[in-house]
Amino acid sequence: MADAGIRTEVAVGIDDGLIVAVGTMTDVERELANIERSGDSEYHAQCEYIDCAGRVVTPGLVDSHTHAVFGRPRYDEQELRAAGAGYMEIAQKGGGIHSSVRDLRLRSEDDLLALTRARLQRLARYGTTTVEIKSGYGLSIEDELKSLRVIASVQSEANLRVVPTWLGAHEIPQDYRSGPDGRRRYIEQLVSEQLPTVAREKLAIFADVFCEPGVFTLDETRAILETARGRGLTLKLHADELEPSGGAELAAELGATSADHLAAISEAGIAALASSSTVATLLPGTMFFLGRTRQAPARALIESGAVVALATDFNPGTSPTPNLPLIMTIGVSQLHMSVAEVLLATTVNGAAALGLAGSTGQIASGFSADVALWECEDAREIPYWYGDARCVATWCRGEPVHTA
Ligand SMILES: [Zn+2]
Repeated sequence: MADAGIRTEVAVGIDDGLIVAVGTMTDVERELANIERSGDSEYHAQCEYIDCAGRVVTPGLVDSHTHAVFGRPRYDEQELRAAGAGYMEIAQKGGGIHSSVRDLRLRSEDDLLALTRARLQRLARYGTTTVEIKSGYGLSIEDELKSLRVIASVQSEANLRVVPTWLGAHEIPQDYRSGPDGRRRYIEQLVSEQLPTVAREKLAIFADVFCEPGVFTLDETRAILETARGRGLTLKLHADELEPSGGAELAAELGATSADHLAAISEAGIAALASSSTVATLLPGTMFFLGRTRQAPARALIESGAVVALATDFNPGTSPTPNLPLIMTIGVSQLHMSVAEVLLATTVNGAAALGLAGSTGQIASGFSADVALWECEDAREIPYWYGDARCVATWCRGEPVHTA
């Protein structure tokens, strides 16, 4: 991750949604002329030139971990937390994840679609062209399906690329908390009803579980994810966010595409990820927003050879930011990553965290024409102007997504 392959004096040729040439202007024009000669004689007249001189072009950013389908924002909790309220006190005042669940269940699919659509436009403004979105505030069959249908709708109508993840195992819902066997009954519902329905209706590519003491145990996580894999879904885990509980090791053992959070990952967890192809997805905006000082050990992970990605964790409770360049800033300033590392963590490795490393996240021939243009003279300015919106345009599959 030490070398992001930054080049100067380069042109990028795009045709039919793909990058077809990267090199000098002469090289790129020659390649485009070859396409012209082999096909449409009007081709050259249709070519559009975009002058990016003096600015920076990167791959479109990949935000590989968001919870963008939710209703009411939870800004009231921020002040409570600042005043010293803990998780339990916030929950007792009607906040926390269960308040998002109650709220989402009351909303129509159209209402959630309008909210999610607007949020994707905000994500796109900061350079993101591929975004993963999880369900997980429904926690019932109908409300998880409703959330996943919202994701399917934005996937079909948005120019940016949307990757759907089922997260019915985000938490044990309150209606299953009474009685001695409530959690067992909810897990039974997940594996025998939710997952089969989600898989049959092809509403998700990934299945994710919040594996953490007090939420889903290692054994429960394994049972849910093995069922998901049997139904044709690929796997992700929320792992080792608060306590080193073996989530990263389980992710590596199950061949999960990514293990996410990892602020409390153990030495054994680092070693397990380093010897696997499971991407370590770090979400440092969450710790920043919650006012925590501990961050995931990015340096130890990178130096051990793990594949490290960064994402926003965009969600209403713990990381309400659509701004992936801000996460790059935290990556450099708090996680001690280099600029090359944060650029790769939000492009190449973000794509790997979604199983898309062969098609997006790089400016190279044959890759999808997913490109971001920045009002910067040097790539180091992207994490430097923190919180600023320096992205002036993006394209996904060669089509414009965002223009400043
Ligand atoms: Zn998350």
